[in-house]
Amino acid sequence: MTTSTAADLGRGSNNPTVGEFGGFRGRLIRGDDADYDTARAVWNGAIDRRPRLIARCVGTADVVAAVRFAREHDLEIAIRGGGHNVAGTAVCDDGIVIDLSAMRGVRVDPAVRSAWVQAGALWGDVDHETQAHGLATTGGIVSHTGVAGLALGGGLGWLMRKHGLTIDNLLAVDVVTAQGERLRASEREHPDLFWALRGGGGNFGVVTSFEFRLHPVGPTVLAGPILWDASDAREVLRVYRDFVRDAPDELGTVVRFGTAPPLSSIPESLHWRPVLIVGTCYAGSIENGEKLLRPLRASRTPLLDLVGPSPYVGFQSALDSTVPHGWNYYWKSTYLPELRNDLIDVIAGHAFLSSSPHSYVAMFHLKGAVSRVAAGETAFGNRQASHAMTIDAVWRPGEDIGERDIAWTRELFTALGPYREGVYVNFLGGDEDPGRVREAYGDAIYERLVGVKSTYDPDNVFHHNQNIRPRRMPS
Ligand SMILES: Cc1cc2nc3c(=O)[nH]c(=O)nc-3n(C[C@H](O)[C@H](O)[C@H](O)COP(=O)(O)OP(=O)(O)OC[C@H]3O[C@@H](n4cnc5c(N)ncnc54)[C@H](O)[C@@H]3O)c2cc1C
Repeated sequence: MTTSTAADLGRGSNNPTVGEFGGFRGRLIRGDDADYDTARAVWNGAIDRRPRLIARCVGTADVVAAVRFAREHDLEIAIRGGGHNVAGTAVCDDGIVIDLSAMRGVRVDPAVRSAWVQAGALWGDVDHETQAHGLATTGGIVSHTGVAGLALGGGLGWLMRKHGLTIDNLLAVDVVTAQGERLRASEREHPDLFWALRGGGGNFGVVTSFEFRLHPVGPTVLAGPILWDASDAREVLRVYRDFVRDAPDELGTVVRFGTAPPLSSIPESLHWRPVLIVGTCYAGSIENGEKLLRPLRASRTPLLDLVGPSPYVGFQSALDSTVPHGWNYYWKSTYLPELRNDLIDVIAGHAFLSSSPHSYVAMFHLKGAVSRVAAGETAFGNRQASHAMTIDAVWRPGEDIGERDIAWTRELFTALGPYREGVYVNFLGGDEDPGRVREAYGDAIYERLVGVKSTYDPDNVFHHNQNIRPRRMPS
């Protein structure tokens, strides 16, 4: 493995001439480095882009140097947090990747219940450190997902109905702007930027660290999946709808339609069988959770019920192996209203028709604290939706069922047409109609985001994302 220095950048026909990359303490990885292919790979194996340079930063000064260098050399910029965005926005062709994956520090202040988190951290890093104090904040449901991209788009997770979205727990961020300046944004400092960063994604600068509010959680919670045969999906979904309608905020649920994954907790006889799974996590006392979940667990005789006391940290990583790095993924997504019977029929009629046993549909139950934050208070779109659904085609490298399952995601998405209520920006794929970014926010929030973008990034330097175009840019 070779380690490039600033001076090396000038050598070789593929590299820009040496600019002011002085003082860069991280690694500069180029096409001739042995780990270039690993460094350019993102979670979605279907993404194959070749940046000219990967600037693996170890601190804010490196980020400043990378932004300035890219601007001086007129290079495309992609920002990489955890590298999980399904559209592959963390990596670009030919330009520079500002790679934060070496910046994974987390510092918890239990006295004031807050955590300072570097922007390359994964949710597993945050849960690990915060749970050491019996604390947590709302994060994603797969522990190898990046904090940065997830938080900047909103942040759905098991705890959101009780503690709000990830952005509802954001206290402050440190940002490097398109001009290479360092800013701190919070309710008091650059409040317009702080507003936009809570939902507007990576459009406004490179965030180098986040400060989150924490809450007492667990460390043991009542959690786990309940599995029913796919043929029971219609009936179970009706029970589920009535059950979650009045459920307390402590209960987070995610429904998964697909096959039973080959996890060690699931008997082999059930592996790959088409099932409806209701994942549950109760962020309150075990006793209250047991009482609350009893009717759901008793309905339609489940194939398997794994609900029980579980360490929150362990539960947060229970799904990790079902969505590994390097497989191929294609998503279509939408918010949905409450599950009327006709909507249930559409979902149950299509959701199990994928060809790949790895493909699935996931449906997060929202409402609760998510819906009690006023529209427009943050840059998050639809806070009144009941569910966020993502239809995920998944196939392994070398398998030729990708096209069939991509068609399956589109068919279900089309069938949901009359029910769709916008989309969660972080679930948008790479081939969406550009109008879907506006759809993710709604007109009022989108126009306000355009205003903030025009102030902080008028040249659209940060456009390798779900892009919000500044005012004076031609479309
Ligand atoms: C397996 C899996 C599970 C998921 N589960 C959930 C879930 O439970 N809840 C949920 O809400 N979402 C979930 N998501 C979606 C997730 O929110 C997005 O994929 C998100 O983009 C991941 O963030 P990342 O940092 O890993 O992404 P990256 O691909 O690294 O970044 C995505 C984009 O975010 C922006 N960005 C990243 N870092 C920075 C930064 N430091 N400063 C400025 N901009 C930045 C950039 O525009 C970048 O292109 C999941 C995704 C996957 C793949």
